[in-house]
Amino acid sequence: MNNQNILVWFRNDLRSHDCETLYRASQASRQTDAQIFPIYCFDPRHFGKTAFGFAKTGAFRAKFLIESVANLREQLRSLNSDLIVRIGKPEAILPELAQQLGIGSVYYHEEIATEEKTVEKLLCLALKDKNIVSKSFWGNTLLHLDDLPFVIAKLPELFTHFRKQVESELTIRKAFPVPDRLNPLPKNLDIGEMPNLATFGLIDPEPCDRAVLQFKGGETEALKRLEHYFWQSDRLQVYKQTRNGMLNVDDSSKFSPWLALGCISPRYIYAQVKQYESDRLANYSTYWLIFELLWRDYFHFVAAKHGDRLFYRAGLRNMDIPWKQDWIRFELWQTGKTGFPLVDANMRELAATGFMSNRGRQNVASFLTKNLGIDWRMGAEWFESLLIDYDPCSNWGNWNYTAGIGNDARGFRFFNINKQSQDYDSTGEYVKHWLPELSALPTNKVHQPWKLLPIEQKRFNVRLGVDYPNPIVDLFASAKANEEIYNAIL
Ligand SMILES: Cc1cc2nc3c(=O)[nH]c(=O)nc-3n(C[C@H](O)[C@H](O)[C@H](O)COP(=O)(O)OP(=O)(O)OC[C@H]3O[C@@H](n4cnc5c(N)ncnc54)[C@H](O)[C@@H]3O)c2cc1C
Repeated sequence: MNNQNILVWFRNDLRSHDCETLYRASQASRQTDAQIFPIYCFDPRHFGKTAFGFAKTGAFRAKFLIESVANLREQLRSLNSDLIVRIGKPEAILPELAQQLGIGSVYYHEEIATEEKTVEKLLCLALKDKNIVSKSFWGNTLLHLDDLPFVIAKLPELFTHFRKQVESELTIRKAFPVPDRLNPLPKNLDIGEMPNLATFGLIDPEPCDRAVLQFKGGETEALKRLEHYFWQSDRLQVYKQTRNGMLNVDDSSKFSPWLALGCISPRYIYAQVKQYESDRLANYSTYWLIFELLWRDYFHFVAAKHGDRLFYRAGLRNMDIPWKQDWIRFELWQTGKTGFPLVDANMRELAATGFMSNRGRQNVASFLTKNLGIDWRMGAEWFESLLIDYDPCSNWGNWNYTAGIGNDARGFRFFNINKQSQDYDSTGEYVKHWLPELSALPTNKVHQPWKLLPIEQKRFNVRLGVDYPNPIVDLFASAKANEEIYNAIL
């Protein structure tokens, strides 16, 4: 067997376009006649429990992941190859398989967060023991790590500083093409069956017809979404104005679940924005989508710089805030029963669909930490469990930021839920979509139902404390109390 064969280990890079590992392997195989073996391992550790006891990967994301891996298999089949699928720890499975298949090197995309890094290290050690080379590539951010105008240890602690520095000499590498054709896998090789949700002890989530989008995993769907958002509906040109919307599918790109699993590459999105700018128009909206991708990059580089600290209770700023672990109030937050319609609608959307808009996430995270004073890690883990777009760097980075303990956090800033409701759901349509018990309320009353007089409750068919809860805290008094706690340790 040719011991120059290459194992391409897929992780959060479930695509054939702009996939450096696959592309480089296909180039190398032309020169040496080596065979390429693509593999994906479902790691059972991803289906365990978080520290606070939530399912680490809930059913929404597990379903999206399975769809994405299945689609990658189809893509590879269309290139004449296939995808080997295994369930187990990569550091145990890959070295053994590599030995059986005469593998000389394993190619993979590097990850950033602690758990993923640990797996990488263990794998490299196990491969080294067997004299197999491991070759890592950087491919899940818009900017390549090596193209940053500073070493990672000097990454600015403020996003704006980061953005200005990278924008002043922006280098975005070209996306790698899909390889023309790969070698077929040997016929006698057991490629493995695709698992289903039951394999991981999960059950299919209830379909939800109120969901903003019926997200389906995989590269094919990701590219379709881009085609729709940019080229068919032309919504890219109004992105800046609509991106804070919570209700409509095209308010924002909805790329995040596919980006998180690498079904679409940020460099490909960038190239498409540039194409759009030259074919249709360039405006503040087209720029702003790239601006948001830079936020994503920033959180990834922050994680690369600070490592484990991203997950510490004291956060990146090392602030020892006496967070509460108040499970009673936490459950009211989780289940959307806080008595604040904007918070409740968003939390119910998350529970029913695995998605929530950016505006919603900022509000519910602020409410949990700044109004309820609850341990931000409980919120971050709940998001980790449910979000289909969960990505450790973006999730834990944003939670650090919103809880006021991130590197870029600017003191105790809390979202005034009443004002946010007026600004971003002025008609109350979003809130009514997720809280049907408030559907008869007029627009000027829907965001503050606690003000309803008994006669109004009767008229609008909602009994406070029965059909819809009374507020669990006073919005301003609770923020003030938590601000005092926060400022005391500054
Ligand atoms: C508490 C909290 C937790 C979050 N957890 C995650 C997470 O686990 N995974 C995740 O992808 N995003 C996370 N976000 C960021 C953001 O909410 C989502 O990326 C966004 O809502 C996805 O919708 P979209 O694709 O339509 O975004 P768009 O507005 O269309 O933005 C385009 C892309 O830019 C990136 N982006 C936009 N805003 C942010 C941001 N604030 N941080 C990082 N990237 C951003 C995303 O990749 C997004 O797909 C979190 C935000 C908050 C406040």
